[in-house]
Amino acid sequence: MNGPDADFIIIGSGPAGVSAAFPLIAAGRRVLMLDGGDDAGSQGESRSVRVLGSNLESLRKDDGSSPKLQTPAARGILEPFRRQSGITGDGFIPIGSLARGGLSNIWGAQISYLDAEDIAAWPIDVASLQTSYERVANRIGISSNADFTTGAHGEPVLPLGATAADVLHRHQAAKPADGSFRLFPAVNAILSEERPGRAACDLRGDCLYGCPSGAIYNSRQDLLLLRKSPHFRLLDNMQAMSLTRSSGWTVGTADGSSFSAPRIILAAGVLGTAALLADLLPLGEQGLRLLNSPTLAVPLLCPTRLLRSPTPTHSLAQLGLSLRYGSGASDYVTGAIYEVGTLPAQSFVNRMPLGRKAGRAAFELIGGSLLVATIYYPGDQSHSYIRRDETAGKGLTVRGGFAEGFGPRAEALKKMLRREWKRLGLIQLPGASLAEPGIDAHFAGTLPMGAAGPFGTSSDGEMNLHPGLYVVDGSILPDLSSKYVTMTIMANADRIAHRLAETEAPSAL
Ligand SMILES: Cc1cc2nc3c(=O)[nH]c(=O)nc-3n(C[C@H](O)[C@H](O)[C@H](O)COP(=O)(O)OP(=O)(O)OC[C@H]3O[C@@H](n4cnc5c(N)ncnc54)[C@H](O)[C@@H]3O)c2cc1C
Ligand code: SF4
Repeated sequence: MNGPDADFIIIGSGPAGVSAAFPLIAAGRRVLMLDGGDDAGSQGESRSVRVLGSNLESLRKDDGSSPKLQTPAARGILEPFRRQSGITGDGFIPIGSLARGGLSNIWGAQISYLDAEDIAAWPIDVASLQTSYERVANRIGISSNADFTTGAHGEPVLPLGATAADVLHRHQAAKPADGSFRLFPAVNAILSEERPGRAACDLRGDCLYGCPSGAIYNSRQDLLLLRKSPHFRLLDNMQAMSLTRSSGWTVGTADGSSFSAPRIILAAGVLGTAALLADLLPLGEQGLRLLNSPTLAVPLLCPTRLLRSPTPTHSLAQLGLSLRYGSGASDYVTGAIYEVGTLPAQSFVNRMPLGRKAGRAAFELIGGSLLVATIYYPGDQSHSYIRRDETAGKGLTVRGGFAEGFGPRAEALKKMLRREWKRLGLIQLPGASLAEPGIDAHFAGTLPMGAAGPFGTSSDGEMNLHPGLYVVDGSILPDLSSKYVTMTIMANADRIAHRLAETEAPSAL
């Protein structure tokens, strides 16, 4: 019998997978990473190809989803997963990736950190997460937006757009209508200073189309570093299809290959990991509870900035916000404010009840004064389940929905937000809408750490039902706060991998 292919096989090269790989190779463990995608479409494309697509995909009809999901880059990341994952949606858009770097190729890069209250029900302490937050933040590069008219304090910063700065000034000057409303410069995984292989942000605002200079963190960048280690191997185009246990674990891939290791680390994203485990879990009728963040988008007009041009900045989140709507620890929403003037004109023009010419003229006139706020609810306000798809036999369906009483809660929140917009001198425009579940791409909770039973995992992400199978993506987060989730996924993967690196490799296989 052949020996194992590695000490650990990691499935997935997104933010979770690379975060697990670093501590293991630093400890001299042999890591084989399998990814269902490859390096296609990452470098050397001209701007016109990035904006229009190599097959002019951008000229397709607007499908009503977020502009971010309609760019050629996004279509190239999402479509293979849609076609090949075997997961469909019922009132849910099952966002996932089969691409080197995963969803970090198209993410918004906004960063949040959980605190002790957020993780009170988790089987880990906040100190261990904080150590990992620091390690990950140093690795990926973080900057906050700053209003240079008031000065920065030595930390890495990028300029806040003028419209966002205007709103922030008003917030600082006028007392919030609701004491629990917070507005602050957004913190993003964008470089303000160059690093090897990555340039600093050039403030040209092309961010929606992929950041050609590498200023926005993408886990592909980490793979370049990982591949320098003799302990690390990445195999592209290796979609894992099955996991079987003998003395260790064997991964079977779509092309008929198989790879073995004593321990497997699943980092295929919450939906990708669920698809891989479907045959190993007693899904039953109820299926797997999936936590996602109900999401509200609100268009806003800042009248004081009418007819003024946007100032140079990136087009990711300018401001972050949070607002408490109840007395429970997780009863608060988190969100971001974007400047529309830095977004591509077509994403605005296509949604206006005007012709293209008039829409374009309107955009030029008011684009610089428009903002969009995106608001996320915590996962306990969702009611989504992953079940076996009875019609398709082997596949899975995600049925999306909202928690009981969500409708009135959402209305009450909109009212609270309207008071704050008014205080900030903003006019809420018609068109505020709740996104279809799944669009948020903030997923968690299917295999919670610390839970008993067949779906539970240990505090190290090892499956109760399958020793030797570890999960490090969002699946194992026991609950989903409204904060941006990826930094926590990465920190938790780093924390788990440090613990695995300390343990002796079993002599199985
Ligand atoms: C438009 C958009 C904006 C976002 N903005 C933000 C934001 O501002 N802040 C934030 O915190 N989060 C944001 N997110 C969410 C963020 O992208 C995800 O939380 C993050 O990418 C999850 O990382 P992951 O490694 O767990 O999974 P993924 O990034 O999904 O990576 C999964 C990896 O597994 C591979 N894979 C999947 N199945 C298989 C298989 N069977 N075999 C082999 N390989 C497989 C894929 O190729 C991929 O490499 C955003 C997401 C989207 C779509
Ligand atoms: S403006 Fe956007 S695309 Fe350009 S370098 Fe900065 S982050 Fe990248």
